[in-house]
Amino acid sequence: METARKPDWLRAKLPAGPRYRQTRELVDSHELHTVCQSAQCPNMGECWSRGTATIMILGNICTRSCSFCAVQTGRPTELDFGEPARVADAVAKMGLRHAVITSVARDDLTDGGASVWAATIRAVRHRNPQTAIEVLIPDFRGQTEPLDTVLDAQPDILNHNLETVERLQRPIRKTARYDRTLGLLHHAKGRGFVTKSGIMLGLGEREDEIAQALRDLRAAGVDIVTIGQYLQPSPQHAPIARWATPEEFVRWHDFGIKELGFGVVESGPLVRSSYHADEQSARYGGEAASA
Ligand code: SF4
Repeated sequence: METARKPDWLRAKLPAGPRYRQTRELVDSHELHTVCQSAQCPNMGECWSRGTATIMILGNICTRSCSFCAVQTGRPTELDFGEPARVADAVAKMGLRHAVITSVARDDLTDGGASVWAATIRAVRHRNPQTAIEVLIPDFRGQTEPLDTVLDAQPDILNHNLETVERLQRPIRKTARYDRTLGLLHHAKGRGFVTKSGIMLGLGEREDEIAQALRDLRAAGVDIVTIGQYLQPSPQHAPIARWATPEEFVRWHDFGIKELGFGVVESGPLVRSSYHADEQSARYGGEAASA
C-alpha cells in the first residue's frame, strides 16, 4: 500500500481480458517469475493484455535490499538449470519480437549468475532467432568478467538502471554505486552494444541532480533512457517525496533528446525500464538506420 494518494495521471489499466489470462497461464505453466509481479508493476494490466511480460531469472529472492524495490530479499534457492529452456519456450509461445529478461541480484554466487544469464540468452536466441533480446542486468559487484560472460552471449540491448541521482544512491540502492553503474554501461558501449538505462523521479532528487545524472548517462554512451515516477511498494520502503507531473516528464524527454542527444528517451509517470521496450527498440533502430 502506498502512503500517499496517487494523482489521476497514474491510473493504470486494470488486469483483465483473454490475452491477460493467457500470459498468466503461460508464466505459471512454465514455472517462471516475472518482475511485473515481483515488483508490483502498475502496468501489468496493459503489458500482459498485449501479451508481453518481463521474465525474471535466477529465482525471485534477491540478495540485496534496495529501499525502492518490492522484490523479496533473502537467501536465494538453488539454481534451476531447466530455467533457460523454459524461458526460451515461453518467449516462443508468447510470440515476442522483443524479449526483456531481468534477474534478481545473486551476490551469493561467485559469478553473480552470469553463466545462467549467458545460457538463457543462448537458449532464447536458439529457439527464437528473430527475437531481439534485451537484458536488464545487475551490476555483478563491478566485476568485468561476469559482465563479459553476458556480453559474449550477444544480447541485442544491454540495460542496467542507474535508478536515481548520485546523492541518493546509498539510501536508495544500498550496495550499488553510481560510478560502478556508469562504468558497466561504458564498458558495454565500448564493446559495441546498444545500451539502455533508467532513473525514477520522486525520491527527493533536485532538478540539477536529474540533469547531471542524464548527462553522466550520456557521457557513458547510453543510447536509450527511461524516466518514470517512483511508487512506494509498502510503508517499509522509501517514501514518495513528490509526484512529478506529466509536463515535467515531457521536459526531461526534450532535454534528453534535444540537448543531450540520446537516441530514445521514454519519459512518463508510468514508464518502467521494460515498458514498451519493443517500441523503443524499433524507434532506436529506425533512428540509427536513418542517421
Ligand atoms: S512495464 Fe515491464 S515490469 Fe511492468 S508490466 Fe510491463 S513488462 Fe512487466
